[in-house]
Amino acid sequence: MSPLEVTQEYFEKASRLMKYSNRVKTMLWTPFREVKVEITVETDKGEIGTYIGYRIQHDKSRGPMKGGLRYHPTVNPEDMRSLATLMTLKTALVDIPFGGAKGGVTCDPRTLSDHEMEVITRKLVDGLHDVIGPFVDIPAPDVNTNAQVMSWIMDQYSKYKGFAPAVVTGKPVNLHGSLGREAATGRGVIMGLNDLLHDLRRPWKDTRVVIQGFGNVGSYAALFAAENGARVIAVSNQDGAVRNPEGLDIAKLNRHVARKKPLAEFPGGESVERDSVLTMDCDVLIPAALGDAITEDNMKDIRAGIVVEAANGPITSKADAYLAGKGVEILPDIYANAGGVTVSYFEWAQNIQQFQWSEKQVNTALGQKMRQAFKDLRKMRKKYKTDMRTAAFALALERVRSVTLQRGIL
Ligand code: NAD
Repeated sequence: MSPLEVTQEYFEKASRLMKYSNRVKTMLWTPFREVKVEITVETDKGEIGTYIGYRIQHDKSRGPMKGGLRYHPTVNPEDMRSLATLMTLKTALVDIPFGGAKGGVTCDPRTLSDHEMEVITRKLVDGLHDVIGPFVDIPAPDVNTNAQVMSWIMDQYSKYKGFAPAVVTGKPVNLHGSLGREAATGRGVIMGLNDLLHDLRRPWKDTRVVIQGFGNVGSYAALFAAENGARVIAVSNQDGAVRNPEGLDIAKLNRHVARKKPLAEFPGGESVERDSVLTMDCDVLIPAALGDAITEDNMKDIRAGIVVEAANGPITSKADAYLAGKGVEILPDIYANAGGVTVSYFEWAQNIQQFQWSEKQVNTALGQKMRQAFKDLRKMRKKYKTDMRTAAFALALERVRSVTLQRGIL
């Protein structure tokens, strides 16, 4: 099943719950605009290089569209459509005044120089400047795009429209970025887990946590989980995994990884096979790498009672149904990793206000948004007697549906 089919399955399930007619479903599912641009550049070797860039703008009923830009060989319009739809639902669920979009360039950044990355990015903006903007569509970093790429976007867009830092988020802090943005997604993941543990009347102390993926999201999630008293007993990255049943020292592990040393060689734990972390005996499993981590192949071996989807789409729909049937609590991606887009919203607001917030202000406001979303989710789940994911989709869809009709569909 493709990511788009999986998203559609969840969408259909929530739509059935809300008793939407086929006409309403079609209205909510159909993207607002899909743009495809040719990006032809001169490579460092003086050759012609042609790439394709996409921007899928799913919905703008609640505000300007918002979503990341991904540079990867697998970027294709179908997956972008799925991710753009999830962005519409994510922004609605945490109730920030945005719609949803996603985009990217089909390219392999590992084969590109910094100069080539810059030229591709600027040409992408040349192709998209009429359909993005601070009040139209605001891109952000995603896989293989970072604060530097966002700086180029801001600069190129400003050449067309004048100084416009709010056209993009995830910028460097010294270039109109926001304090607290880097840690925001991992922080939000742990805030969500905190509320779930509270509901389940389970203490943080000695909760055994396993994290797949030790990049931006996974490393901050590990740090905040440990700060709350959990034992992070194993983490993995693309190249290996490390385990310590007594709990890894995350601050030390972060320093080890920052020195570009292999995770598996961390002296504070033992090296284990990378994918074994997924099926390890633990209380909470946090997939924070890529999609399709938990599938039909390994779903029966999952031993965690709680799974928090820090990554986008880490559980296939078959595995999701199986785990939910076994009583595993799953915090769905559109809620669990919404901390990133929430602080992107704060960055945008700071750019519009031309006023920088303190890190404390950012984190407090993030906590308020995540907590309110959890309360809304809990209420929805209770009312419809359903699982967290269906409740999340239904709540978000209903918010989008109601404002679309309020604005009028003449
Ligand atoms: P990242 O590139 O910083 O980190 C990804 C990590 O996953 C790396 O440590 C990599 O080595 C590891 N990894 C890759 N394949 C793996 C595998 N098979 N097994 C174990 N580890 C593996 O990316 P990130 O920003 O941390 O994003 C992680 C996920 O969170 C992605 O799905 C992303 O879409 C999602 N997400 C990120 C943000 C954000 O603000 N960064 C916001 C929302 C969602």
